[in-house]
Amino acid sequence: MIRHDYSRVDPKRRTHIDPKKRQFAKAEFQQQNYEHRLNFYILPPTAEITLEEFETWAINRLKVLSELEACSFRNRSPEETSEYMTSILNKYLPLRSNSSRSQSLQDERKKDHYSHFILRLAFSATEDLRRRFSRLETMLFRLRFKDDDLRERQEFVRSLNLEWEEVKEDEKRELRDELVAASRSKKGEEQDWFKVDWERVPELVEQRKVLLKRGKAYVPQREQMSLVVAEFTKRLDEALELTARALPRLDEDDRLAPILSHLSQSFNAPDAAYSSSDASIDGLSIITANAIDTLSQNFPLCMQNLHMTLRANSHLKHYGRLQYTLFLKGIGLSLEECIVFWRRSFKLMTDDKFQKEYKYNVRHAYGDVGGDANRRGRGYTPYSCQKILTEPVPGPGQAHGCPYRTFTSDNLTSLLQRVGINDRDVLKTVKEDVSKQRYHVACNRVFEHTHKREIKKVKDDGTWSATDLDTIVHPNTYFKRSWLLKHLGEGNAGIVNGEKMEE
Ligand code: SF4
Repeated sequence: MIRHDYSRVDPKRRTHIDPKKRQFAKAEFQQQNYEHRLNFYILPPTAEITLEEFETWAINRLKVLSELEACSFRNRSPEETSEYMTSILNKYLPLRSNSSRSQSLQDERKKDHYSHFILRLAFSATEDLRRRFSRLETMLFRLRFKDDDLRERQEFVRSLNLEWEEVKEDEKRELRDELVAASRSKKGEEQDWFKVDWERVPELVEQRKVLLKRGKAYVPQREQMSLVVAEFTKRLDEALELTARALPRLDEDDRLAPILSHLSQSFNAPDAAYSSSDASIDGLSIITANAIDTLSQNFPLCMQNLHMTLRANSHLKHYGRLQYTLFLKGIGLSLEECIVFWRRSFKLMTDDKFQKEYKYNVRHAYGDVGGDANRRGRGYTPYSCQKILTEPVPGPGQAHGCPYRTFTSDNLTSLLQRVGINDRDVLKTVKEDVSKQRYHVACNRVFEHTHKREIKKVKDDGTWSATDLDTIVHPNTYFKRSWLLKHLGEGNAGIVNGEKMEE
């Protein structure tokens, strides 16, 4: 197995590093023992991990960050966000407290630590990426800080040595009245206080949430979180600047550069690997060419647009055919039925022309022809939203791509109305999402609107968890989820991702 310590540069190359850059070449390695659940990510990781771990851990963290971002785009309240994120975090980035006595504490913390640093590398290149990363990491930190075990949280804060002085009992007694007045509560004397130089808490001073005395701000315990979080952000921002300056050196490693660039692309539209379980839906009988018209009601807008264009013109151009063929393959349409589908759809074309010019491409997409280069007989995988959203925009007469990105605002509204979205608020918010280039958020919004009743039902009866309803980032996930929701109670409720949920 290839192992790689990503924080090091090949020693032979290191000797050639420009002396001016040596300050970045020097790293203070220190073995990590994760005493606390929370982490300020001060020390970079130093142990070896496999390239596979490198990528998987980063993708898992990215999933968490993009779900957090989706929560903020949708204006979910802190309580709603926390509820929604619980199962996402448990699945992708669990982080238990010491009191849980879990055997895997160190592994969980290691994954959390490494994945943070990997994404730090991937997202420090531009100011925009750095700002987004810092904002989302801060959200994640705050979420974890809030639900941390109280005692362990205090131990963690103490370990940070933030130069806060705890206010002793006798001083608390002496300042009793002023503390009570500053805390605007009779409990002012009972709770814990600490003091810092007042310049460090300008926001709290401005909001009059602290007592000012002799150049010190007396901060009540309950305001501690905002202080710790502000410190976390400050340190992360500084570290990101430093990483950005050290980045050019990473080009020296041709194993990491492609992974990092793929990760940073995924930040704009989270990527999703297609899993073969997406092709099989229990309860959905074998799909034939004839069924596609009916099933297209459950397709996302990109595929509905291709389907409608195909029906209107009896033809689709190359990239549209490829995008659609792979999607159909992904929903479980066999190669034979797919050829029948295209043959019938191109009804103005002679059989001879179809056989000579079109059939081969369909077989190629399925891996029936094409040799080794064609993924060892499996053909291409269905495109994810990220792939579709980052392709060049379609030219005249082409219909591939994501309509949320490629259509003008008016045309998008007309298309949505054509597929039955008439709700003014939804159309308006979709427009706003699109203007901010949040295409997949717009798509998820439409999904939630068109499946409102069903989503409420599976949430209320507890048959689906939050991860079964996470943000859709693959057209095939859209289809599968839509089909399952619209066929609830037909013997397949609760079957998500190909697996029946535990009762
Ligand atoms: Fe299709 Fe994804 Fe665009 Fe939705 S966001 S229309 S699933 S490409």
